[in-house]
Amino acid sequence: MQRLTDALSTFHALCLGMIIFALLVVKLELIPTYAYYFIWQSTFVFLLIGIALSVYFNKSKLFVLLLFPLFSALCLAFPTTLFTKLGVSAFWHMVPLITALGYLLIYALQERGLFSSFGALRTSIGLIILGIGYAGLKYFSPTMQKALDTPILHVSLQGLAKASDFTLIIAIVSLLFIFLISMLFEVQSQKAPFWMLVAQMIPLLFLQESNHFILFCLVASLIAIAALVHDAYRMAYIDTLTGIPSRRALEERFLRLGSSYIIAMVDIDFFKKFNDTFGHDIGDDVLKLVAKEISHVKNGGKAYRYGGEEFTILFSGKKKEECIMALEEVREHIFRRGFVIRDKNRPEKAPKEKLKAASIKKERLSVSIGVALSAKGNTPQEVIKRADDALYKAKESGRNCLICL
Ligand code: GH3
Ligand code: MG
Ligand code: MG
Repeated sequence: MQRLTDALSTFHALCLGMIIFALLVVKLELIPTYAYYFIWQSTFVFLLIGIALSVYFNKSKLFVLLLFPLFSALCLAFPTTLFTKLGVSAFWHMVPLITALGYLLIYALQERGLFSSFGALRTSIGLIILGIGYAGLKYFSPTMQKALDTPILHVSLQGLAKASDFTLIIAIVSLLFIFLISMLFEVQSQKAPFWMLVAQMIPLLFLQESNHFILFCLVASLIAIAALVHDAYRMAYIDTLTGIPSRRALEERFLRLGSSYIIAMVDIDFFKKFNDTFGHDIGDDVLKLVAKEISHVKNGGKAYRYGGEEFTILFSGKKKEECIMALEEVREHIFRRGFVIRDKNRPEKAPKEKLKAASIKKERLSVSIGVALSAKGNTPQEVIKRADDALYKAKESGRNCLICL
């Protein structure tokens, strides 16, 4: 379910929006022909920016995948040096095929960075496919055209898709494969290839017009850049373990904070016990669970991972009583919920009830909370310090409680 909602996330909406916009531009002829000169220039600039960023962020998948629209755009920009006497028809036969096939093969390889043997392998595969494409364009013949144009599908797609049945099938397989695999990943640089391929396949399969194809290549480069920037933002501001904003994001938030705010420091009670008794992985699971619970705090509170097993909740411009009620609700909820530990050594083939009893153990889990209100002349760091003092008092008072100073 989480994956499904993720599939409809902002990034997907952004990509879809850009593609629909480009389609409207093409269909309604919103760009005059002379203005396409600037689209061509921009496409090369943004493709090169995307390639440079993917090298900088060590993303081999996006690096190689961006070489495909760059190759296609170069082919269209310098046709006379590439094409046979069959002219541009070679392009519309070969490029959709190598793009769909290339994306399928390149995407199937795991991301392990650009500057590694895996990166070298991926780049080599990409260059081989592009080399085959180049040879295909150069030596394209009527026999090849006839072979590619042989109908395979019983349903006639003539009039809808301009590309051959064979290319259409490869494109559909590639799109489906990349879409399904991309749903397994959180990061946008893994989701972008699906939309980059959609952006290129629309003009390659259906429009087959140079200017329109270049416009869609521009969209593909923007999708790649958006994904890289988004991932860089995530790396800087989102805590990788818990998925909630990091301390850096909190410090950034302090820079644009008003004068009235409330800071709560939340610390897991006896957290070391989870690590010592059940191992670090279970300790990490506890951190994830607490992060998830506190990020649902009401009254507009925003949760951050401050460090280790300590979290900060920030309320801006809210009433003290309402914040305390919201925090107490979270604290009680975590305590009532506890932490369920599933025994990894549980028997595989035991009766259901027995299995349940043997494999599930509920551990006590609680948090202590220290709260401090902003005061005139106090910096947010000073308010955090007071919230920390309050937290210390909460620990001294027996834990699983909230103290406000
Ligand atoms: P108290 O109730 O007084 O807060 O006791 P405590 O055991 O929760 O506190 P203590 O500060 O002694 O232990 C915090 C532990 O958190 C120590 C450290 O190894 C562990 N820790 C910090 N960051 C992580 C992490 O990212 N993952 C895991 N698994 N453990 C972490
Ligand atoms: Mg603790
Ligand atoms: Mg602590």
